[in-house]
Amino acid sequence: MTDLHRLSIREISEGLAAAKFSSRELTEHYLKRIAKIDPQVRSYVTVTNEVALAQADAADALRQAGQATALTGIPVAHKDIFCTQGIKTSAGSKMLDNFISPYDATVVAQGKNAGLVTLGKVNMDEFAMGSTSESSFYGATKNPWALDHVPGGSSGGSAAVVAADLAPFATGTDTGGSIRQPASFCGLTGLKPTYGRVSRYGIIAYASSLDQAGPMARSAEDCAYLMNVMAGHDAKDSTSMDKAVEDYVANLNVTTLKGLRIGIPKQYFNVAGLDAAVKARVEESLKKLEELGAVLVEIDLNMTESYVPTYYLIAPAEASSNLSRYDGVRYGYRAENPQDILDLYKRSRSEGFGAEVQRRILIGTYALSAGYYDAYYVKAQKVRRLIQQDFLKAFEQVDVIAAPTAPTTAYKIGASLDPVEMYLGDIYTIAVNLAGLPAISAPVGFDQDHLPVGLQLIGNYWSESQLLSVVHQYQQATDWHTQRAAIAEENA
Ligand code: GLN
Repeated sequence: MTDLHRLSIREISEGLAAAKFSSRELTEHYLKRIAKIDPQVRSYVTVTNEVALAQADAADALRQAGQATALTGIPVAHKDIFCTQGIKTSAGSKMLDNFISPYDATVVAQGKNAGLVTLGKVNMDEFAMGSTSESSFYGATKNPWALDHVPGGSSGGSAAVVAADLAPFATGTDTGGSIRQPASFCGLTGLKPTYGRVSRYGIIAYASSLDQAGPMARSAEDCAYLMNVMAGHDAKDSTSMDKAVEDYVANLNVTTLKGLRIGIPKQYFNVAGLDAAVKARVEESLKKLEELGAVLVEIDLNMTESYVPTYYLIAPAEASSNLSRYDGVRYGYRAENPQDILDLYKRSRSEGFGAEVQRRILIGTYALSAGYYDAYYVKAQKVRRLIQQDFLKAFEQVDVIAAPTAPTTAYKIGASLDPVEMYLGDIYTIAVNLAGLPAISAPVGFDQDHLPVGLQLIGNYWSESQLLSVVHQYQQATDWHTQRAAIAEENA
C-alpha cells in the first residue's frame, strides 16, 4: 500500500485489526517517508528507527496473540520535551543536546502500554518558549503548507510531522498556546486539556502552573484516540487530578450542536492585530456552527487587555525557577575549563541557553526579586484570578467560548518579530492556561496565501469530551480537516 499515511487513526486501527497491513509495514512506510521528505521540513530532532521497528514487531506479536487494543501498533511522534528512556531528550536546547533520559515521561509510558510505536522526537522552541519553533538549537522547522513559513510554536515539530504525513498523530505541550497555535498554523486539530488532566511527570518544565500536554492530529476523532492514552491520574504528578477518565472516542457524539450556546467575546474581535482573513474565516465557521444548530451569544471578557502582561510575568517567573537546575554540574551542557564554580555556572548557562530563554530568565528573576516581588509577581497572580473569574462568569451564560486561535496565519521564517510583537500573537491562547481551562483549535479554511486558519473553542473545566464532540460534528459537515499540503501528497 502506498497511501497508508492518508488513513485516519480509526482507519489505521481497523486496518491493523483486519490484518490489511501490519504495524511493521505501517512503521516502515512512515520511516521511509521521514527519510525522503523530512529533509525539506526538518521536523524530527531524532528518528528512532530501530526502536520503532522493534516496537512494531512487538505490537504485531501482541496482535497475533490476540492481545491488541485499539492503538496497538500505531506510530506516534513525541515532542522533544517528553523524557524518553534511552533516547535523547533535548527540549530544543543546546543545554540538553547531550541528555539521554534515564526514564520515560508518564505520557510516553502510557503510550508504550497502549502499544504505540515511537517514530522519534520532534522539534520545538527552546524549552517551549516561543511561537515559531525558530528558537530551537536545531534550527527552524518548516510549515508543510509553505516551506518559507514557520509551523508555529512551540510544538511546531509536532504540527509539521502531522501536516506533512510524517506521523499519524503527535504529542504536544501547551503552556500558553503551544498546541493550539501550531495546530492552527498547520491546518490541524489540537487539544489543550484542563490543567491536571494529563500527567506532567517527565515533561521538561517551562512554567509548571501552566504546562499541560495534549494531542495534535488531523481531526477531533484522531485527537480523541490519543487523548484516551494521554489522560489520567498519576501519583507522580501532585497536580494531576484523581478523576475518572472518559472514553473520548466513545464520547465523540455526546454533545449535540442543537441549542449549544457559543459565546462570542466582543473584546476578542476588536483586537488591533486581528488579520482580516482570519476574522472572516472564523466568522464563517461560526455561521456554519449556527446552521448546524448552535446559538451565538455575544459575551464580555473584560480582562482581555491584561492577558499578555500577566502571562509574560508569571510564565518567565516560573521558568526562571525551573531552569535554575541547569547549572552545568548535574546534567546538560558544561562549559569547558571553568576557572571556579561561579565561572562554571555563568558560562554553562550563557553558552547553553539561547537568547529567548535568557531573556525570560532575566525577566522572571527580576519579577521575583526582593522589592519587586509584590509589585510584579503577586500583582500578576491577583490579576490571574480575575481572568479566571471572568471566564467562570461567562460560562454561566454559555457552554463554550469561540475565538480565533491566533490573530494571524503562519509568519514567514525569519520575519524577525521583536519579542513584544511575538508575545502579542499569544493574546487568544494564554488566558486559557492562566485559568487552567481546556481549549481546542480546529482548521476552518485558508487565507489569501492558502495558509490555514484556526478556530478556537474554549470549554469549562473537564469539558474535553464536549470540545472534541463539537469539533467532531463540525468536521462531519465540513472538509477543512481533510485537506492536505502539497508536500503531504508526495510519495516516498
Ligand atoms: N508562545 C508562548 C510562549 O512563548 C506559549 C508557549 C507554550 O505554550 N509553550 O510562552
